[in-house]
Amino acid sequence: MNKEQYLDFIASWHEIVFILMFVSLGLAVLNYLLFQVKYQSLKDFKEKFDLANEKQTKMLFRSQVLLAFAIFLFINTLSDETVELKTTWFFIRLFVGFSIGFLWGYVSHLVLKFYYPGKLDKRLKRLRYTPRVNPQNGNKMKLLSEEEEDAYLDEGMQAEENVFSVDYDVWIDPSTGYTKIEKYKGHLSALECDRCGFQTLRLVKEEIVKEATETEDGELHKEYNCSYCGRIKRKNVVLSHKIKEKSDTARLIDDPLSHDNRIAVIKVEIHATNGELKEFDFQNLDQAKNFLQEFDLEKLHEDSY
Ligand SMILES: [Zn+2]
Repeated sequence: MNKEQYLDFIASWHEIVFILMFVSLGLAVLNYLLFQVKYQSLKDFKEKFDLANEKQTKMLFRSQVLLAFAIFLFINTLSDETVELKTTWFFIRLFVGFSIGFLWGYVSHLVLKFYYPGKLDKRLKRLRYTPRVNPQNGNKMKLLSEEEEDAYLDEGMQAEENVFSVDYDVWIDPSTGYTKIEKYKGHLSALECDRCGFQTLRLVKEEIVKEATETEDGELHKEYNCSYCGRIKRKNVVLSHKIKEKSDTARLIDDPLSHDNRIAVIKVEIHATNGELKEFDFQNLDQAKNFLQEFDLEKLHEDSY
């Protein structure tokens, strides 16, 4: 490439990159605005909760990636005079742009992963506990406590609550008896049972049938049990010879305290050895105790986005 061709190339590069930068910026803003419009258009608090819970962090990350790309492009329009002097400068600028853009994306990822969840959680709590309104007469409804709500949940729902895979909120209009039941994800995960359809299928037994060796795969036997309909499901899983070690499961304290009606909230904090901290709130000791009995680090819902 002679000097003249190189200068032509730089000129068209500058133009294309400039256009792409605005497209990328535009998409970042559009992505954000569309979400806001959708969120504001929802009137039901539970629908707002679901949208914020499932989509908000993903949306913010997409916008930040588009922004990072726009930054990368923007840097590639700077100092054209220097770049025109020598081809090397073109590649240096490309590299600097990429590094800064990548850094922007990475920092956004860290913020969304570690700082943002706490902030989002406060908002979600507000959406979940704002008093619901009875659509029939506009009355404010009351949220039933864990003890009171059982009368309104069927057996399968109660079974799901007992294994902490699902948490139901029951709102009632005391004057008419109108109820609204909302379904939330519980603290622990359980699989959906393929017989009764409730989220009550849990791993009850894990047995290594054949140890994995340096060269050969092993075999792991897993047994699941549905606490609602009693279905037992068995599954054999291959133990890859590369990942032999199995993490220790948590050891639990039993019977920490006896039942006391004066207790309003029980907080359980679980600190894992990898520095992870999990907090859980319960309305009464029985619930907290049952939770601790069910608890297993591997059963926690993954907070990924
Ligand atoms: Zn079942």
